[in-house]
Amino acid sequence: MAEGAIGVDLGGSHVMAAVVDEIGQISTRFEHDISDRTPSAVFAALTGVVKAAIDAAKHDVVGIGIGAPGNVDPVSGTIRFSPNFGWENVPLGERVKEAFPRYRVFVGNDARCATLGEYVHGVGQGTQEFSLLTLGTGIGGGVITGGNVALGYQMGAGEFGHHQIRPDTGFVCSCGKVGCFEAQASGTGLIRHAFRLAPSFPRSTLLDGPRERLGSKAIRKAAQAGIPHGVAAFNAFCDDLALGLANVIAFVNPEVIALGGGVSSAGDFLLDRVRPLVEARTTMVPRGTTKIVRATLGNDAGAVGAATAAMRGGLFAQAPPASSRDVSAA
Ligand SMILES: [Zn+2]
Repeated sequence: MAEGAIGVDLGGSHVMAAVVDEIGQISTRFEHDISDRTPSAVFAALTGVVKAAIDAAKHDVVGIGIGAPGNVDPVSGTIRFSPNFGWENVPLGERVKEAFPRYRVFVGNDARCATLGEYVHGVGQGTQEFSLLTLGTGIGGGVITGGNVALGYQMGAGEFGHHQIRPDTGFVCSCGKVGCFEAQASGTGLIRHAFRLAPSFPRSTLLDGPRERLGSKAIRKAAQAGIPHGVAAFNAFCDDLALGLANVIAFVNPEVIALGGGVSSAGDFLLDRVRPLVEARTTMVPRGTTKIVRATLGNDAGAVGAATAAMRGGLFAQAPPASSRDVSAA
């Protein structure tokens, strides 16, 4: 029987467990909404979908990989802090191992897992220097350098979302700083640009209706349709996105930067605007040498990467020999 693993994408409002095979294909998935964010409630939701996935698997399941938001110690599987859940030092890996003692368990940061997934099974294949940026509610990211996932001293490498690009004039970020890349250039950032520019478009109906129902998609569509308010918001957003991307190039000089998340659905409409803006801001690296492309695994990147990490015994971009595969959180 082919080998596979359970890949879990744990988010603040939703958990998904998928059966993932060695080539990164998902055969089946189970999902559960999360409203109670206490560790015991989240753990119950998580074990429910994991158990369903194990039962449904037609593979020889070797492990369970979990991508979770926040700062995660991938050796112990402890979530050191997670603003999404309001958690500190929750030993998630240990508890999952207790519930599923037959399996290797790996817990890592969701964005690092997505980076590994996109690198091993998506658009990052074939390069040694790769960065992923997921433009969703926030900006998640990760770096592959020299063919390995960069983790940093305290697992903080790749937190591109919280470098400030507009510290004087930007939006307040969820982390408390002003003008973080995430506050300016995530899907939420696009909406905020539209609100900031609204006084210049008094006849615009773009922001009519309840604010909680307004998504970045409406603004992106308006921009694509040539509606002036949408175009202005999208252009402001692209300026900020390009600022951050040029910084990423200065930090880690990737060969490929992949953009994922809802906003990246705009495809060439986004990329054609952003590429020249990034080039104009690139100084110490030959211009135009970093390819900026769309990520290919979409929302599945995190689960695929987490499963890959479980199969490999860690966030290894190259599979280590079987004998050296250690069991995290065992
Ligand atoms: Zn921030």
